[in-house]
Amino acid sequence: MSRPELRIRTDRFLSNIVAVRERIAPSALMVVLKDDAYGHGLRWAVEAAQSAGVEWYGSYDVGSGVEARRVLGESGRVLAWVTSTDPEIDEALRQGIDLGVGSAEYLERIVARAYDLGLRARIHLKIDTGLHRNGLLPQEWAQTIADVRAGETAGQLELVGIWSHLAEASDAEDDEAQAAFLEAVRVVEESGGTPEALHLTASAASWWRPELRGSVSRIGAFCYGVRSADGPDLDGLLPVAELVATVVEIRDHGAVIAIGSFDGIPSTLVGATVGTPEGPRELVRIDMTTSVVAAWPGMQVGDAVRVFGAGEHGECSATTLAESIDTVGEEILTRLTPRVRRVVIE
Ligand SMILES: *Cc1c(COP(=O)(O)O)cnc(C)c1O
Repeated sequence: MSRPELRIRTDRFLSNIVAVRERIAPSALMVVLKDDAYGHGLRWAVEAAQSAGVEWYGSYDVGSGVEARRVLGESGRVLAWVTSTDPEIDEALRQGIDLGVGSAEYLERIVARAYDLGLRARIHLKIDTGLHRNGLLPQEWAQTIADVRAGETAGQLELVGIWSHLAEASDAEDDEAQAAFLEAVRVVEESGGTPEALHLTASAASWWRPELRGSVSRIGAFCYGVRSADGPDLDGLLPVAELVATVVEIRDHGAVIAIGSFDGIPSTLVGATVGTPEGPRELVRIDMTTSVVAAWPGMQVGDAVRVFGAGEHGECSATTLAESIDTVGEEILTRLTPRVRRVVIE
């Protein structure tokens, strides 16, 4: 093996899913799949989560939703929440993909496409609770709900969810956002029934703030064992991915490994700790396709070095590496280039 490998541990993903579900119950888990399942591979993630009986999948865009649907067949619910083009809406309606809706203009387009196709769109309406990142404003909420109810009566719509996204910057702000969310839910209830899926929280708030959880929790990072940057360790969750590079040459002061900045390793990670057969060592140099790790006794060509992982050989997690260069673990994972071979370990 001279190309670096991102080893994907299915057993850990499954045990993370069990731990997350236990923690958030009775809220249901929606496994978030954006950025190719945070660099782990969407197909693999959906297959594994489906085997664990996960019902909800959050795909971000319609294209990824269609991929998830292909794996799932008729089972499961897939939500694509980014505002999409008309052809994408058509695809979503045909494939039974739920659509997140954050503007009156998008709602209108969905109704028009559903009418033309003779299909009923399943929608999750988004209220802006302060993040100002797509979402209906509180002052347009009542009118939009009236329009949605009219669309239901006419047969183009089914309101299955209400949702919002938290800033997770401070507990006080998130509490305010929840108050705005609950007010929006109340308005919907008065218009005739509560949709089954109420969802507000992602990984961190779902894990640490039980009082904010709705009937569904949208969780990406923690399912993959990626803890929040500057956040505490997560009891019972393990990093799913390990980045492994092989020693290809021994030099006086260290081992040359076959991974470098062309593989998506930020060159600013010089000085970070990686895992070797003899435990943690410093990453002393990062070139384009190779890097150098400080020597260990008995080092030899063919040895495996873990750039990040679960710590079994002294390596850090992706998040710990990320913190040393002021970014987040997700970025370390999703920046890896196709030169890195993804290997699923059952
Ligand atoms: C990315 C994303 C999530 C998942 O966030 P994590 O912190 O990775 O769990 C949930 N909801 C929305 C709208 C997102 O964009």
